[in-house]
Amino acid sequence: MATTTTSSPNSLLFHHSTSSRKPSFLRLYTPSRASLRRISCTAVSTPPPSVSSSASTGRVFNFAAGPAILPESVILEAQAELFNYQGSGMSIMEMSHRSKEFDYVIKKAESDLRSLLSISDDYSVLFLQGGATTQFAAAPLNLCASPDTTVDYVVTGSWGDKAFKEAQKYCKPNLIWSGKAEKYTKIPSFDSLQQSPDARYLHICANETIHGVEFKDYPTPANKDAVLVADMSSNFCSKPVDVSRFGLIYAGAQKNVGPSGVTVVIVRKDLIGNAQPITPVMLDYKTHADTLSLYNTPPCFAIYICGLVFADLLKQGGLVEVEKNNAKKAGILYDTIDASGGYYVCPVEKSVRSLMNVPFTLRQPELEKTFIAEASKEGMVQLKGHRSVGGMRASIYNAMPLAGVEKLVAFMKDFQARNP
Ligand code: PMP
Repeated sequence: MATTTTSSPNSLLFHHSTSSRKPSFLRLYTPSRASLRRISCTAVSTPPPSVSSSASTGRVFNFAAGPAILPESVILEAQAELFNYQGSGMSIMEMSHRSKEFDYVIKKAESDLRSLLSISDDYSVLFLQGGATTQFAAAPLNLCASPDTTVDYVVTGSWGDKAFKEAQKYCKPNLIWSGKAEKYTKIPSFDSLQQSPDARYLHICANETIHGVEFKDYPTPANKDAVLVADMSSNFCSKPVDVSRFGLIYAGAQKNVGPSGVTVVIVRKDLIGNAQPITPVMLDYKTHADTLSLYNTPPCFAIYICGLVFADLLKQGGLVEVEKNNAKKAGILYDTIDASGGYYVCPVEKSVRSLMNVPFTLRQPELEKTFIAEASKEGMVQLKGHRSVGGMRASIYNAMPLAGVEKLVAFMKDFQARNP
């Protein structure tokens, strides 16, 4: 890793060491003096970080649940291309969504995602707006021909509960299992599910971001005409998934695959085109499937970043490799919690613990504030648990390096030794 030392605009923008490969930005663009001055001002006015950094790069280990950590290589690549994308003379942010450059960006993003998840031509891949929350309504509106249609929801955490409540406006959802009474620490056995014989779909949240509960396998809808629907927002592209088992998968990008502002929808093509008449045009999958997600102005920059992330995941060897890394990271964190003699506690049943979001509490809750503050000083930030459950939560998405988790567990052991 070589540190940028030239007097190019990049040296003013980079606070960071970067690869010795000359970014395409430098190869293609010679800045004017005026533009150099403008960039220089931007760099100078950047506020200093509020916590001490974890490394000489000035970056911290960000354990936030979302928006969340992204691969440093992706951020640097975006930075290098930000000012003048591929010699087009403008940034992606300024570019028409109908330009040939953006056409390439969105098609490459889709094709790389299809490769990552082995998505067949039977499915449309859509890049939409409105967050996963909008999909809580879009799913029933698109899949239920009428408001009287029966569907089933298995609720293993707060996000599944929100999806279930939203569906009540557009169809007749049955809550066939809820983990609420056990504080959302479990996944039911699939045999015990009392599925409705006429349900149009069975909805699950594949990974509950707040409670840290993850499906390790998926139930099959009992009605042979029904499809499985999954909110995969917080474990999307964290491991291989057999897409053919699902009718619909949706995921907000801002955890594992990009910034906020874009939601990926993977929907079986034969399910498109039957939306309820009241469905707003922007929520109808047909609108976006017919126009390759370009019916109106899409979130271009967010899609571009997702594309860089997908390419990066492929470069890492695809999702089999990605899952191995994730299992290793989660393993050392859960092992540390379990080996602490009850000092740290993760309430989730072991077999369904999330590889992405690890909630834990301290035996002495009065120390939690100190734990979070000291960790932050050490450059490990955003460890506070969701306000609805308290405690701590370490989100360790794909982009969290092993070094980040190793640093966290070393800190946890030291904290325990200092505060027995
Ligand atoms: N589902 C899950 C599992 C989530 O974690 C979130 C956001 N944290 C949502 C849905 C809602 O997503 P959005 O904010 O993109 O609407």
